[in-house]
Amino acid sequence: MENIQITKAKERKPLPDPAKLVFGKVFTDHMFLMNYDAGKGWHSPRIEPYAPLQLEPSCMVFHYAQEVFEGMKAYRDPEGGVRLFRPKDNVERLNNSCERLCIPKLPEELALEGIKTLVRLEERWVPSLAGTSLYIRPFVIATDASLGVHASHSYLFCIICCPVGAYYKEGLQPVKIYVEDEDVRAVRGGTGFTKCGGNYAASIRAGERAEEKGFSQVLWLDGVERKYIEEVGAMNVLFKIDGKVVTPKLNGSILPGITRRSCLDLLRDWGYVVEERLITAEELFEAARAGKLEEAWGSGTAAVISPIGVLAWGDEAVRVNGGKIGDLSQKLYDTLTGIQWGREADPYGWSVKL
Ligand SMILES: *Cc1c(COP(=O)(O)O)cnc(C)c1O
Repeated sequence: MENIQITKAKERKPLPDPAKLVFGKVFTDHMFLMNYDAGKGWHSPRIEPYAPLQLEPSCMVFHYAQEVFEGMKAYRDPEGGVRLFRPKDNVERLNNSCERLCIPKLPEELALEGIKTLVRLEERWVPSLAGTSLYIRPFVIATDASLGVHASHSYLFCIICCPVGAYYKEGLQPVKIYVEDEDVRAVRGGTGFTKCGGNYAASIRAGERAEEKGFSQVLWLDGVERKYIEEVGAMNVLFKIDGKVVTPKLNGSILPGITRRSCLDLLRDWGYVVEERLITAEELFEAARAGKLEEAWGSGTAAVISPIGVLAWGDEAVRVNGGKIGDLSQKLYDTLTGIQWGREADPYGWSVKL
């Protein structure tokens, strides 16, 4: 494995107030970089002071969005150590995204070592206030200075970090969601299963409209028949219906979330019947009308668990669990965050000490 060259920043930035952290605004002192050039492969892994990138305006990523990214966190444990959560899964998923976007795969061990080395160097930035963490954003961009539509011959892999505040300051707040039946974020055969910027670009309009109407996010339907539920905002979605847990089956247009997978592992261990299958909006609302929709929640790295309190579809709105968080959503949240922050035993080996 190639050595990671480290150039330290001359000055260290002052740390922000951990009680006032806003997501994604303040970045740490350093960033990780590695280049790819055709014929040379991935080379020159290095850590440098955090700084603007210099790119040609013709750079391919600006025009054709040949780009992929990841999102993960480093957590401060009660002993003062720093932990990652299933970091190998993020690196593997990054490479699955690369493959779909025709980006040469990263050497996985080196990419993981890059993440770990950067977080170790930025240790002082991992906050310790309850619920806070250091968000890690690895990404790869196409850097050929060329307007031809084809796979780039050069790429930049970069990792940046930002301290983030507690997602919930006053306990888990259920959100209002509505079924989006105009825009779609992804279709089968497209890039829905990857974390690429293009998926987000396609989803922004629906998110903005939802906010205007007083909803937090949208419930996405499949792009072909617009019947089947796929995700909620930028999270996976799970339902407790008549005692069973139901979640949309991964079909190519759904992002395989690591929080989703962790929820399913825990639920199966707890003895729940878990169904990964097609579920229509109609079935969901039928269940709600019959009083069988017991809980609904989104899952993702940012919020961990985001309970859904109100679901709207056209003119109809249903409340889930009286608009309050359900016991199972709360138990999943407590267990996952307990493991992530190193407060609870981790029989799965998910929590990785740095
Ligand atoms: C990142 C992401 C998720 C959640 O994935 P996690 O690995 O749990 O953070 C779900 N849906 C979309 C569209 C995403 O981009």
